[in-house]
Amino acid sequence: MKNVVVIGAGTMGNGIAHAAAAAGLDVTLVDVNDELLQRAMSAIAANLQRGVDKGKMTAADKVAVVGRIKTAIDLGAIAFADIVIEAIVEKLEAKSDLFAKLDALAQPECILASNTSSISITKMAAVTKRPDKVIGMHFMNPVPVMTLVEVIRGIATSDDTYQRVESLAKQMGKTAIEVNDYPGFVSNRVLMPMINEAIFALYEGVATAAAIDGVMKLGMNHPMGPLTLADFIGLDVCLAILRVLEDGFGDPKYRPCPLLVKMVDAGWLGRKSGRGFYDYRTG
Ligand code: NAD
Repeated sequence: MKNVVVIGAGTMGNGIAHAAAAAGLDVTLVDVNDELLQRAMSAIAANLQRGVDKGKMTAADKVAVVGRIKTAIDLGAIAFADIVIEAIVEKLEAKSDLFAKLDALAQPECILASNTSSISITKMAAVTKRPDKVIGMHFMNPVPVMTLVEVIRGIATSDDTYQRVESLAKQMGKTAIEVNDYPGFVSNRVLMPMINEAIFALYEGVATAAAIDGVMKLGMNHPMGPLTLADFIGLDVCLAILRVLEDGFGDPKYRPCPLLVKMVDAGWLGRKSGRGFYDYRTG
């Protein structure tokens, strides 16, 4: 693989573009407007600069990595892609709509991958004429740092597609772990109920946010507490994943905590909006 197109230049999309370009791939980053793309390129440059400051790469490497990333607002940019990695909003309708367009525009051999946290790969594949080439490539946040890629096989994903994606993950310095397509896959099926339970504990007044996080950090050796992690992931993303689990399994044990719903309604989305379980507005 040589040409990678990443659709969606938010938290995950800019991280995926960064990691792919750092692995020597030619990357095109696509979003709906230039302002979002410029913000993503600034985030990538700032993240690379941290690597330069720590002596992990040279200033010339940084320039070379940034130079391998082009930006576009037109989906026509995918015409020569070997793989498209979708990282747009976590909504089935938006993703299905996009996958139908990608299928029409991409060359026949192109793999269509989704970075979805929980949505069915099989459903996205079903709107295309190439379900064997549709796969989940679930990177972890922050992408340049985290080594796991959960690779999700839809019901029709071919072995060849899996192997090509596994090699790409390896080229990007990541470790692929193969899972099958059920709501939340493995990562979020296990993680989100824990985060939701931590929010219920806060909601019911069992302890403060700092105390809940402290128990999980010090007692369970987690690098960050579940509420800090939820703020980092984005509370809207957490809520969307819990809804997929609740709908997909039809099991009330995945019911999102009313406090999470209320915070998302208020626009308190965690770090990215400046306020979540903690207040980031003062830096
Ligand atoms: P985000 O809100 O930060 O970014 C989404 C971007 O997609 C925005 O810039 C938006 O303008 C763009 N977009 C929306 N519709 C588009 C379209 N039709 N064409 C082009 N661009 C479009 O979201 P995020 O946190 O980066 O999440 C993206 C995906 O990655 C979601 O599916 C999410 O579940 C998944 N994910 C998120 C995390 C996390 O920690 N945030 C971790 C793993 C996977």
